Amino acid sequence: MRDEAEVTTAVAPSAQLTAEDRCDRCGAQAYLRVELQSGGELLFCAHHAREHGEKLKEIAATVIDETHKLTETPAVAPEA
Ligand SMILES: [Zn+2]
Repeated sequence: MRDEAEVTTAVAPSAQLTAEDRCDRCGAQAYLRVELQSGGELLFCAHHAREHGEKLKEIAATVIDETHKLTETPAVAPEA
């Protein structure tokens, strides 16, 4: 018998971000959740996700990227 159950059940793949989640850097709403290989967790807004994204992927175990939610609605203000 192999005892791998505890390892596999530790993974929670669908941890969605909510409006409660805030960027660790600036406090804006978070759209990127990074679960670190060391076990910690970081949250970033779209701006900081873009700024730190490449480095984060090197240290991350899991990256949950929801920045696409922002691009679904036009960021450009309509002409008045
Ligand atoms: Zn930020």
